[in-house]
Amino acid sequence: MFVQGGTLGLPEAFEDVFEEPAGGPRITAYRNYLIESLKIAGFNAAKATSMADASIAIDRALHAAKLPPVEANDPSKINNARTLAQLQTELPNLNLRKILGGLRFEEPDHLILMEPRYLPTLSKVLAERPIQDIRDYVKLRVILAYSPYLSSDFDKPLIGLNEGLVGVSVLPSQEERALDIIKGRFGQPVSRLYSDSFFPPETRRQAAEMVGLIKEAFQVRMPNRKWLSDATRSAATDKLNALSFWIGYPDEWVDYSSVEITPDLVSSLVSIARFDYERMRQKLGKPWVTEHFNNSHTLPIVVNAAYDPQINGFEVPVAIIQAPMFDAQSDPAVNFCRMGAVLGHEMTHGFDWTGKQFDKTGNMKNWWTPKDSAAFDALAGLLITQANEYEFLPGSRTATGAQQVGENMADLGGITLAHAALRKYLALHPEKDVVIDGQTQDQRCFLAWAQFWAWQGKDEALRSQVARDAHPPNAYRATAPLRHLDAFYKAFGIRPGDPMWLAPEKRVEAW
Ligand SMILES: [Zn+2]
Repeated sequence: MFVQGGTLGLPEAFEDVFEEPAGGPRITAYRNYLIESLKIAGFNAAKATSMADASIAIDRALHAAKLPPVEANDPSKINNARTLAQLQTELPNLNLRKILGGLRFEEPDHLILMEPRYLPTLSKVLAERPIQDIRDYVKLRVILAYSPYLSSDFDKPLIGLNEGLVGVSVLPSQEERALDIIKGRFGQPVSRLYSDSFFPPETRRQAAEMVGLIKEAFQVRMPNRKWLSDATRSAATDKLNALSFWIGYPDEWVDYSSVEITPDLVSSLVSIARFDYERMRQKLGKPWVTEHFNNSHTLPIVVNAAYDPQINGFEVPVAIIQAPMFDAQSDPAVNFCRMGAVLGHEMTHGFDWTGKQFDKTGNMKNWWTPKDSAAFDALAGLLITQANEYEFLPGSRTATGAQQVGENMADLGGITLAHAALRKYLALHPEKDVVIDGQTQDQRCFLAWAQFWAWQGKDEALRSQVARDAHPPNAYRATAPLRHLDAFYKAFGIRPGDPMWLAPEKRVEAW
């Protein structure tokens, strides 16, 4: 059983707002949102203000106790085994037996405490704050959770919050929001309809062929990775051979037909939540079964792909196997260097700081020697230096290279493998190695990659991303990794002194 940190009043991507001093623009926007929402819910202005302030104080304390992003991504920091009795002594003000009983969970022998400071801090907050503050906090969280479904009166404070946090002052239409609820709560049934309608078997076949070639490109390159020791290289080869992937949609879909849906939106949402909770509870204590394409970021309707180190495999949802990422009618360069590169990116996550801590069957066991780790870190150091030299917004250069190096390393691996797989594909299908619009397949490969990252957003959103996200801004991803590939220099005849030139000693070739 895993014990995570709880959610706070703002989504995780915006939790850095809780570090902003009182009176700062974003924390003020959040405070106003709380006060106005509470007033709509029926509290008078004085009570709404005191509830908002207490809630922010509690969330500040809990946020400060969470692991910072770099540590939260480090399996060695989040894998803290405890017995129930041990954990209970660390949390004197939380009655774990009672909580587990309330959840109808059996008592586990061991728990994995993923946030080592969060729960002890929660225990302290519970003891130190007046009980009325805790009651108010819980009330407020329930109101916020259901406010989008209760009345459009709550739209106004939400718009104010969005303006403050992401600079956007319109909400999606009612229709779009209704669709989002259905996608969010009935992910699998909607995915099933979508897959049946938009995913012909021929597309699935082509995508599977491409993934196979990318894996093969990785296998071909493995013996030439000079920085790896022989023992680790052979373990890496084993792990790569064992790596599995699933394309499109699951073999079995979750059956939601027993969920009671009524014209009452809130009660329907509660029924769905109860159904999901019960499914999760039924799994406790039973052997682990991987459910494919059934979490919020790998549903077939989601444009994403994700490697899971605990199964040494990854899922490629239908929605990413669609234009502009993948188009059965498109030329190979575009498909390989967009979707193929994303899949290569995912594969290399099995062979980085996360992947090295899990063996080929997904058990937590570091299979790298300290020497291999040091060699990889040295290569990564060059990527960190490269990223630290970028300024995404005036004054945003806060040395984010270390926070984002995992993703930057994966992007580099992804486009490298995609390009190698493209060359292999073109050797197998020479009739496809054609110049289009005056561009060779190599040129189109790198252009397709760069175009893939086109993005538009507000400075506020970019600022939060730079501060917290493990992924660098898209503008960086579009071009920075290409500067490490010899093939890129060749494709465009780039020479020393050109803006994209990176001195050879600063280039990285890891995978
Ligand atoms: Zn990644």
